[in-house]
Amino acid sequence: MSLTAGESMAPSVFLSSENPAYTFQFGKKLGMLLAPGDVVALVGELGAGKTTLTQGIVRGLGVGEEHYIGSPTFTLINEYAGRMPVYHLDFYRIETPSEIVNLGLEEYLHGEGVAVIEWADKVEALLPEDHVMITLQYIDSTVRTLEIEGIGKRYTKLIETVVREPITFEAQR
Ligand code: ADP
Ligand code: MG
Repeated sequence: MSLTAGESMAPSVFLSSENPAYTFQFGKKLGMLLAPGDVVALVGELGAGKTTLTQGIVRGLGVGEEHYIGSPTFTLINEYAGRMPVYHLDFYRIETPSEIVNLGLEEYLHGEGVAVIEWADKVEALLPEDHVMITLQYIDSTVRTLEIEGIGKRYTKLIETVVREPITFEAQR
């Protein structure tokens, strides 16, 4: 793990994930720290682990095991009731941001819930200025890298906190 300050002084943390459970547990740890109005933007190719990470985040937000967390590839959005509303958005299928003008994105990104967005690079211009950006990269069949950026003051702190806490595997999914 390395902590570096980029041009914007937003800390950028790199983690190496050696298995899906690690990615899930990191997500869960992050989810436990999130608050209403937070936005987590996920970027990475198919199979990079965005949904696996999202499953962890959603569980960390208090959504119970009785709810299956799948990809809203066709519906674009799945909503769960956790400690607060949780919106899982997946923009894999959209080609231009104009395709989601009627989705009511405002409510999801600036409301009382937490939004986790797969393929967030496709809607980058629509994201709130402050957000967590996680870029996942496929290294080999079991290894991924996660670059975590906290953009804005709240998220700078949040990222510092989340990387300080150890990942535990006691609570497997
Ligand atoms: P995406 O949503 O980015 O398309 P998914 O999370 O749906 O990716 O799929 C990732 C796949 O890669 C899953 O089958 C998962 O089990 C596998 N995988 C292997 N190693 C890892 C890892 N370290 N982190 C996350 N997923 C991993
Ligand atoms: Mg996915």
